[in-house]
Amino acid sequence: MKENQHSIGLRTLEDISAIILHSHNLQETLDNIVTIVAKRMRTDVCSIYLLELDSNTLVLKATKGLSKSSVNRISMKTSEGLSGLVLETRDMVMTDKAPSHPRYKYFKETREERFLSFLGLPLFERNTPIGVITIQTCEPRSFSVDEISALRTITFQIGSIIHNARLLDSIQRKEQERAWFEQELTRAKGGATTEEGRSAASVKTADGTRMLRGTAVSTGFKRGKVYILDPFSDKVVKVAKVGTRAEEQRKFSTALEKVKIQTIYMEKRVSEKLSQDDAAIFHTHLMILEDRSFSSKVSELINQNHGATRAVYDVVQHYIQAFGAMEDPYLRERSADMEDIGRRIIDALEGNDTSSLKLKENRIIVAEEIFPSHLAMLDHDRIIGIVTEKGNIYSHAAIMSKSLGVPAIVGVAGLMDAANVKDQIIVDGTSGFVYINPDRAIIQEYERLELGHASRQKELEGLRDLPAVTSDGTAITLNANIGLLSDVRVATLHGAEGVGLYRTEFPYMARSSFPTRIEQATLYRKILSAFPGQNVNIRTLDIGGDKGLPYFPCPHEDNPFMGLRSIRLSLEHREILHEQLAAIMMAADAGKPTIMFPLISGVDEIREIRKMLAAVADELEQQGYAPPRDLPLGIMIEIPAAVQIIDFLVDEVDYVSVGTNDLIQYTLAADRNNARMKQYYNPHHPAVLHSMKQIADAARRAGKKASICGEMASDPLNTLLLMGMGFSEFSLSAPSIPVVKQAIRGHSLEECRAAADAILACRSNGEVATALARANEALRL
Ligand code: PEP
Ligand code: MG
Repeated sequence: MKENQHSIGLRTLEDISAIILHSHNLQETLDNIVTIVAKRMRTDVCSIYLLELDSNTLVLKATKGLSKSSVNRISMKTSEGLSGLVLETRDMVMTDKAPSHPRYKYFKETREERFLSFLGLPLFERNTPIGVITIQTCEPRSFSVDEISALRTITFQIGSIIHNARLLDSIQRKEQERAWFEQELTRAKGGATTEEGRSAASVKTADGTRMLRGTAVSTGFKRGKVYILDPFSDKVVKVAKVGTRAEEQRKFSTALEKVKIQTIYMEKRVSEKLSQDDAAIFHTHLMILEDRSFSSKVSELINQNHGATRAVYDVVQHYIQAFGAMEDPYLRERSADMEDIGRRIIDALEGNDTSSLKLKENRIIVAEEIFPSHLAMLDHDRIIGIVTEKGNIYSHAAIMSKSLGVPAIVGVAGLMDAANVKDQIIVDGTSGFVYINPDRAIIQEYERLELGHASRQKELEGLRDLPAVTSDGTAITLNANIGLLSDVRVATLHGAEGVGLYRTEFPYMARSSFPTRIEQATLYRKILSAFPGQNVNIRTLDIGGDKGLPYFPCPHEDNPFMGLRSIRLSLEHREILHEQLAAIMMAADAGKPTIMFPLISGVDEIREIRKMLAAVADELEQQGYAPPRDLPLGIMIEIPAAVQIIDFLVDEVDYVSVGTNDLIQYTLAADRNNARMKQYYNPHHPAVLHSMKQIADAARRAGKKASICGEMASDPLNTLLLMGMGFSEFSLSAPSIPVVKQAIRGHSLEECRAAADAILACRSNGEVATALARANEALRL
């Protein structure tokens, strides 16, 4: 019987996903949902009521079981009826004598007096209520805990599905109006209809709303006017005046010198405004500007009477194509740097001043691509969002938006054709949607979300200086994950108690060659001194897999995530690790560092590392330094093999930290970067949960600290469950700290343990899904 109840929720969820894929508009989506829920829950009725834009009127939008003619006709204030009560209390309402409930409101059209039992749950989209789902039966029925959990699991999912269907619907409706209008117009003119003006990459509505989609790289949503950065094109080349060969050569040398000086100025400005790491990319630019083969290629073309502007354009295009064809996504992204340089040389040749771009008011930056020079030229205080047509998670737009803390979307196909200087847009950095000139309905929808978001932010800000302590007095440590210097500010702002994971590869990635020992030590000192008295857990270089270095080409591997990555690369190229260990030791007196090694698979690696640490300390001592010999040494648990021998490993180290991002992908053989593997990459798979428990238990037995630094811990429900398993330290992306802290402060460790025990007792993904919904309910999240 129990097994049967568990499967209600799961089957329904699977059905809903399939139905969504086959629904073409909001109405079909809603109709399909109510039909399937009524069937699976074995109820006579299932209905969905949605909130109108006034936020206090509920309208019946779909039903299975009530009279169909009442759809869109029945409406009630949120202060009326049982459905209103659900929304008013934002909680479940259940009765098996509905007609005698004091809040019962009878609508003749529905003929619902026949139904005695009522169960209603609120529908939310990102914490904002959007409606109510109800089920009813003729016979008086007490819904079981399992049935309620199953319905909760479903409502959990459908809130955002309905929200998106609603937005799409309003756009599609406008699109139909436009088509009809166009048809009428053509008919009036006596011609045929035209498909002109429709973009394959976007949906356009009658009043001008266009909806596009890309990859969200920085969360949040913002509405505002656009500022369009001109794309790199050969327009200027076509109109450039061409002098004699000698004149063109001279023009080119002068322009080159001017751009070199400008580059040095830009580096300085970015390192002051953002961080040295963000500025380091200008080293690469200088290197290219200094590169003989670049300038001689341009000179050659000038000698063939091309003119300096055309020559620069052609050589730069050649480089862009070469970079663009590279397999490594990081290197591919570097074609943007080439383009940036080319554009600035051409601007210098043509006498265009691009040393600063002043924004008069807050703007959303729209560009084909954001270049490093934009980092230097733009007024950072007035940028409220970023959208680019090209780019991936490594692009400058992604880095810049995170440093600025503004929402951003990259890889938006058709953006530059769709956007115009006078446009207003909405950037939804959570879903990846961009709305150009949104209509009223969409604006209102987002205003409502923004309002909810703002008031919640305020509430969370109040938690900044409060400790993360459970209601029964257990102290939990919440640290931040950082990569760039600019993350330090974000970490402090959100009340991090230290750094649980400092990903050192980011500063390496932004450079044109390996930083020297001194350069590294200088950077580490800065980071350490930014957290006085707090622990900074420095993780050694973790490259390979999906992270490459432009100046350290790794041999091609068919399966790089199973290849020479992370600690394996460091132990194969010891000179790199040696320099990094020396730099960490040289910086150690600036703060409280610990040192952590990624992707450990066995005891032998740890023993090798210990030998290296001793050798590096000896060397430094001989050079007159006083290196610390007792730096706490930790390892990351990211491979199933490490879980299998966790007792041996914890004996060898001072602490362990679980890298769930990798541990999940290796445990479940599901690539963490492959969207098609999403259903397999499941943090709640029993194998993952039991691995976590094994790690916590082993650390407790050995009296060692175990923390979690993967993304899994950034979700409040997960954090509570992991606390219930025995973890008491977490390192999160800094913006998640307040919401996780709020959850910790609102619960007792005992509650967490009960929820964790229930989840660990589950054998299948389906059982876990139900247990999670129940935990969500029990923990009131
Ligand atoms: C992890 O794997 O969970 C982790 C924190 O490391 P990274 O994401 O840098 O691989
Ligand atoms: Mg990892």
